[in-house]
Amino acid sequence: MTSNPSLGKGTVYLVGAGPGAPGLITLRAVECLARADLVLYDYLANPVVLEHASPSAELVCLGHHSSGRFLSPDEITARMVEGAQSGKTVVRLKGGDPSVFGRGVDEIEALRGAGIPFEIVPGITAGLAVAAYCEIPVTHHDDASAVALIAGQERVGKASSCLDYGVLAEFPGTLIFYMGVRKAAEWSRALIEHGKPAETPVAVVQWCTRARQQMVRCSLATVGEVVERQGLRPPAVFVVGKVVDRAPQLSWFADRPLYATRVLVAGSPGTSEKLRDRLAALGAEVVAQAAIRIADPPDWGPVDAALDRLDQYDWLVFSSANGVDYFFQRLFDRGGDARRLERAKLAVVGSSTAERLAQYHLHADVVPERFNAESLAESLASEAAGKRFLLARASRGRQVLADALGRAGAEVDQIVVYKSEDVEDADPDVSAALSSGEIHWITVTSPAVARSLVRLHGDALRRARFASISPLTTAALAELGFAAAAEASEYTVDGLVDAMLRAGHADG
Ligand code: SAH
Repeated sequence: MTSNPSLGKGTVYLVGAGPGAPGLITLRAVECLARADLVLYDYLANPVVLEHASPSAELVCLGHHSSGRFLSPDEITARMVEGAQSGKTVVRLKGGDPSVFGRGVDEIEALRGAGIPFEIVPGITAGLAVAAYCEIPVTHHDDASAVALIAGQERVGKASSCLDYGVLAEFPGTLIFYMGVRKAAEWSRALIEHGKPAETPVAVVQWCTRARQQMVRCSLATVGEVVERQGLRPPAVFVVGKVVDRAPQLSWFADRPLYATRVLVAGSPGTSEKLRDRLAALGAEVVAQAAIRIADPPDWGPVDAALDRLDQYDWLVFSSANGVDYFFQRLFDRGGDARRLERAKLAVVGSSTAERLAQYHLHADVVPERFNAESLAESLASEAAGKRFLLARASRGRQVLADALGRAGAEVDQIVVYKSEDVEDADPDVSAALSSGEIHWITVTSPAVARSLVRLHGDALRRARFASISPLTTAALAELGFAAAAEASEYTVDGLVDAMLRAGHADG
């Protein structure tokens, strides 16, 4: 591989991933991830942001003391240097801001020493994210004109502390402790001993900006005991100061309907985007599992033959948004365009497919009342006799529509415009989250997704609740031995989310 500085080959990017919510990452970080050959990430960086990396990139989790998989700082540096020297674009992804308690300086020294070019991409640091996500105004015109970021635990083996608790106790503003969980009793006592009032309010914020964000209020006098009693674990930041009292009981973040809910969205990458956006907007943390992979059909021959005689069809029927994309892509690739559809009327199975057609500036003549093949067949039956239909579908599509149209006297050609196949590998992070009961809901958007999910994760799925997009999907789940806790009444992404909201409220 040749080194090309403009492409960043042989460069190391020290990148801040932000505090955890997937959107709180910078555009520059996304650019770096997209061009990385090697990504070294630590446990604080939300794995969801790794989706910005190219599928061909090597992703290495550096682990954490608690996971048992752990690389020493020297080993991490060695991997970065080695990667860059072999011409790779390396991203070292860190939680929050890479320069805030992130050992960034040690790594930079090593890179500079080895003559490796690098760039540092800042991120939103956890201690300041609490201002937005918990509405604790870390600076406030009456209560705090300064903020201090403090290490609650200094590096193991460090000869003497750099912290002067006398000065910190007098500090005229907000104190924010990082890495303070294990030593909470000690640093809080030291502050009180140096004259900071014991009743000074404290907020402990765990997993800030993530679905599992939790804020506990206490005081300097009680924080040690509270951490112990509630079994609070890292990562957490401690905000100490009057400004804590200004935080509302429920911040805008905690007040959203799916707050603290983790949802596994299974599907094919393209189709689940809308669902993910909708869930995230309602406050859910979305975990993705690719369950279905879509690709070119095994044989373009029948598709090309149908495209060559498009003018002979009275109706063109699409059973999925993917089908629309593959059909038109092939048409365009062969030099055609939408004018070739001049005569044919257009029917779709549901509103998402109609929306996709609209992106090609085409209006669906028929959208059935219920978004399934049976309902579409009913809508078309009266028009079918003596007409020619072209059905563009997936490799594993159903036969229902073709059969019904045939019975109604239509002449039906079916073409497979894309292949849909199960993903083979379960994402290990998703498996772990399912087994430990961290996933609350699993959305299932088709019978094929249901089958693929069960093949990938089996009984680990039982700790979560299923939300199904349609009765057909619910039936597929039931056949596999799983019950749906919510079923959409309108078979769309919006219908699915509404069903989850209804079920959530019924339980609460
Ligand atoms: N570079 C990081 C800090 C790394 S030190 C940053 O800028 O945020 C690790 C400490 O960061 C944790 O012990 C915890 O105190 C804090 N931390 C990181 N992410 C956090 C989060 N999402 N919620 C609460 N604390 C977090």
